[in-house]
Amino acid sequence: MSTRMLYPELGREYPVAVRAKGSYVYDAEGKSYLDGCSGAIVVNIGHGVPEIAEAIRAQVEKITFVTRLQFTNPQAERLAAELTALAPGDLGHVFFTNSGSEAIEAAMRLAFQYWQETGRPERTVMISRDGSYHGATLGAIGLSGHPNRRHTVRAVLPAWPRAAAANCYSCPFGLTRSTCGLDCARSIEDAILAAGPERVAAVVIEPVVGASGGAVPPPPGYLREVAAICRRHDVLLIADEVITGLGRTGHWFGCDEEGIVPDLLVLGKGLSAGYAPLGAVLLRDRVHDAIGAGSGQFSLGHTYAANPLSAAVGLAVLRYVREHDLPARARELGPRLAAGLRRVLRARGIQADVRGRGLLLAVDFSRPGEEPGITAAEVVRAARDAGLLLYPAGVTPVPQAVMVAPPLTITVAELDRLVDLFATALDTVRPRVAASLEGALR
Ligand code: PLP
Repeated sequence: MSTRMLYPELGREYPVAVRAKGSYVYDAEGKSYLDGCSGAIVVNIGHGVPEIAEAIRAQVEKITFVTRLQFTNPQAERLAAELTALAPGDLGHVFFTNSGSEAIEAAMRLAFQYWQETGRPERTVMISRDGSYHGATLGAIGLSGHPNRRHTVRAVLPAWPRAAAANCYSCPFGLTRSTCGLDCARSIEDAILAAGPERVAAVVIEPVVGASGGAVPPPPGYLREVAAICRRHDVLLIADEVITGLGRTGHWFGCDEEGIVPDLLVLGKGLSAGYAPLGAVLLRDRVHDAIGAGSGQFSLGHTYAANPLSAAVGLAVLRYVREHDLPARARELGPRLAAGLRRVLRARGIQADVRGRGLLLAVDFSRPGEEPGITAAEVVRAARDAGLLLYPAGVTPVPQAVMVAPPLTITVAELDRLVDLFATALDTVRPRVAASLEGALR
C-alpha cells in the first residue's frame, strides 16, 4: 500500500497489518506471520489478550485523562506501588512517561538535577558504551553509541565520552573467556577518570544489550564491577531496562542477574507490552530525597504522562505477567529456542553466534575480522517471506545479527515452528549469498 506517512524506507511497499492474536500477526492479504520478535521486542504477553481488552474497556468507561498538574489517579498510583514493590533495593519512586526514549530523557534530567540539588552542578557528563542504543529523541540518541542511528544528527549531539562495549563474541580487547579480566568494565572507569570524576553525572548501561548489538549479555561479574566503579567515583548508575525489564531475560529485571541496584532504572516496551504507550523511570530514595530536600520540584512531564488509561494497561499487563509467571517461562524456553537455532545452523554448516538470555536471543552472522557474508536485512526479508517476523540488529558497517525474541507466552509447538521457519529462511538466503560470493570471486 502506498502511504502518506514517513516510514523507515521511503517508497517501499509495506504489508498492512490488520489483526493479531497470540503469537501471530495477520496482514490485509490474509497472510499470517509468526511473531518471532514480539514486534520490536515489545509484545511480551502476546497479541489480543482478552484480559487487557477488558481492562481498557473498563478504564475508558471510568476516566482516561487528567493532567498531573491537577490530579493523581488510582491506576498510576497502584502501578507505581506495584513496580516499586517488584524492583530491587530502594527503587521506591516512579516517574511515568509514554515511551522508552522519554523515560531515558527523564532519567538524564533526574541525574543532572540530582547533582544541582546536591551542590555539584558541574557534573554534566554522561558516559555510555560503544554501539549502544537508548532512544530516538535528541537527548537519548546523544547518549547512544549507535553510529547508524546517530549519523543524520551527529553534528548537534553532545561530545560525551563512550566506554567499550561488553561483547565477548567480538571482544574489543581481543580477550577470550579464559583471559577475560573485565577490561570492558575497567574501560568505564577509564572514561570516568579521563572526563574527571567530578564532572561525571552518570553511567548508562543495558544489563543485556538489546537490539543494537543483538542480545549481548556481559561477562559474569560485569554488572557488579560497573556498580562498584560508579560507587567508587560517586557517579550515578542508570540501567536502561527498556528491553530487559519485566521478564524478558528470565528475571523481573536484568539487574537481578547480579543483584545490583542502579540509581535510576528505565522501563518501556514490555511495561505495557504494546497495548498502550508507556514508559517509566524508577528512582532510588537517594535521588528522590535530594530533590525533595532541595527545590522540591521536578518540572518535566509530557501531557500524557501517568494517564489513567495507560496505567490501567500497565497494571493489567503486570498482573498477566505475574499470574503466568512469564519470567520463568523465558528462563525455561530460552535454552530450547537457542538449541533449535543452533541445530538449524549446524545442519547447514553456517557459523554464527547464537546468544542472549531468557527469550532475548540473537543470531549473529558476523565473523570478527572478516568481510560481511549473510546480512541482517536479507535474513529478515527471507524470514518475512516465509511467514516469520525477526528484527535486525548489529551496528555498522553492515548489520549482521537478527533478534529472535518471541512473546514470552509462545507455546512449545510455536517455538518449534519458529525454528523450522528460520531454517526455511536460511535456505533461501544461503544460495543467494553463495552466488554473490562466487560472482565477486569471478
Ligand atoms: N532503550 C533501549 C534499550 C531500546 O531498545 C529502546 C528502543 O528500541 C529505547 C531505549 C527507546 O524506547 P522507545 O522506542 O520506546 O522510545
